[in-house]
Amino acid sequence: MRWDMKWRKETWETLNQEWDIIVIGGGITGAGILREAANAGLKTLLVEAYDFAFGTSSRSSKLIHGGFRYMSNGQFDVTYESVKEREWLLGEAKNLVTPLQFLVPLFKDGKMKESSLKIGTIIYDMMAKKWKHQFLSGQQTLAKCSIIRQEGLEKGVTYYDAQMDDSRFVLRIIREAVMAGATAINYTKVTQLLKDDTGRVNGVVLVDQSGEEDSPLEIRAKVVINATGPWSDEVRSSIRDTDKIRKLRGCHLVFPFDKFPLNHAVTLLHPDDGRLMFAIPWEGTVLVGTTDLDHPQAAGRPGNETCCTMEEIDYLLSAIEYTFPNVQVGKKDIISTMAGLRPIISSGAENPSDESRAHEVWDEDGLINIGGGKITIFRIMAIDVLNLARKYLEDVPEFKTNQRFFEPLPETLVANDMDDCFDLQTMNYLLGRYGLELGEMLAVGKAEELCQISPLPNIWAEVRWCVKSEAVLHLDDLLLRRVRLGLLLPNGGEEVMPKVKSIFQEEMKWTDEQWNREYQRYRDIWEQAYAPIPHDVKLELEGG
Ligand code: FAD
Repeated sequence: MRWDMKWRKETWETLNQEWDIIVIGGGITGAGILREAANAGLKTLLVEAYDFAFGTSSRSSKLIHGGFRYMSNGQFDVTYESVKEREWLLGEAKNLVTPLQFLVPLFKDGKMKESSLKIGTIIYDMMAKKWKHQFLSGQQTLAKCSIIRQEGLEKGVTYYDAQMDDSRFVLRIIREAVMAGATAINYTKVTQLLKDDTGRVNGVVLVDQSGEEDSPLEIRAKVVINATGPWSDEVRSSIRDTDKIRKLRGCHLVFPFDKFPLNHAVTLLHPDDGRLMFAIPWEGTVLVGTTDLDHPQAAGRPGNETCCTMEEIDYLLSAIEYTFPNVQVGKKDIISTMAGLRPIISSGAENPSDESRAHEVWDEDGLINIGGGKITIFRIMAIDVLNLARKYLEDVPEFKTNQRFFEPLPETLVANDMDDCFDLQTMNYLLGRYGLELGEMLAVGKAEELCQISPLPNIWAEVRWCVKSEAVLHLDDLLLRRVRLGLLLPNGGEEVMPKVKSIFQEEMKWTDEQWNREYQRYRDIWEQAYAPIPHDVKLELEGG
């Protein structure tokens, strides 16, 4: 089913029925649950308050990783589970998830201990039943990445993990769930939980956030699942008043490749506190992160989103300066920033980085909750949730990880027709992002739209397809999550705005007035949360 202009109204009209499962939250956790439930033939609805992947699932480090760092905290079980899932994803979600080699430089004055690092990489490979790490000399390290600091560089170590585009990862899973019979709708917020006579949660009140539909609407289900990540405690507040989730903010900076020519992913330690961080080539840019700080405020909404602080920006810049001193990037070179909230199960650990990343599922008056975890292990999380929910569903066999999850794809879909326009690498990139819909996506693009949006790997046909068929309600849905032009191009993609406007006006029939409203909404959101120096930080600076 295409998510075209008629789709939302038609879907809203079908919501008022009894569902097997209602999933609240359209991030990776909700998406994985929806897909597994659809595979099992359950009548399942996912509702997302804002846009799909609006929350943490579009603001991660974009890695499918074992979590090298967790081993130093003794969380071997979390690493083992993650490595296994990484290997599964590299096989089953080829092109959507791609292998990525990391280089760890070892400096004379550095905080990284060579022996622990070597043992760590060996254990990491043993968990994956692969032998891919390398121990390098200083020269070999520089040959892999010439912009690393030469002074004091003694050695290097490499290991493998994997990379993806987080919001596309979520979208592909939700789209495939919908193709398998599930229902998903964005801009639909749960404002209340409903209970039966025994006090068990058996439904929700929905409020349409698009302003187009009649709401509130009460709907019922055999089981309701709270998959709202950093919003989880808000959703369960009417049935419990103790908080479970510790929201830990992580911030990233995005740089243009011509200013920060990083050709290899690097794992580095912050010179001040020894925290492990990443600098990663991503979609034609360079992504550097992350921080790990308590975020006691609410998780936010469009226009009032989590954003990076000046301290975090300075902290990340000082790590770059230490490891890549010749690059000399500063605040003026940042293209965009991004901050997300890890929904961690709180143990009260003093240092946020000591909190376990393990997930936990629990039942409260029939509401099935999940906290903790990460994108990499989303399938395990989905299965644990659904197995706990089975007691409320009739005759549903145990959920296991032995079934196919992603739709199998041909190696290349239409390579013969397209070889004039782009290379095989771009074709594979698009195949991973759009899966079985790639052929349709390419078909909606005009001939000149099959070219790349330089210097990014994206093509213009993607923009037209997303506007036409991917439940885009607002300009920010397109530019921040479907394609990441707002994060990857300077000044939020200002230069490409005339072309984007013409596509919206052709496909969505937006008038100039509608475009101006949407453009202003997007600029406000971008300035507030994604600008190189977010709006509130700027105000703070101006205020002295
Ligand atoms: P979210 O993605 O936040 O989704 C919850 C959704 O619920 C939101 O879209 C929200 O709008 C919706 N919602 C809230 N309230 C309501 C309501 N009342 N009604 C309907 N919908 C509602 N993991 C990895 O595996 N690899 C990484 O590289 C990685 N890097 C990370 C880097 C950072 C900085 C951070 C913060 C996390 C990172 N993680 C990573 C962890 C991972 O991103 C998160 O664990 C994961 O994205 C959480 O997904 P979620 O679906 O539970 O929550």
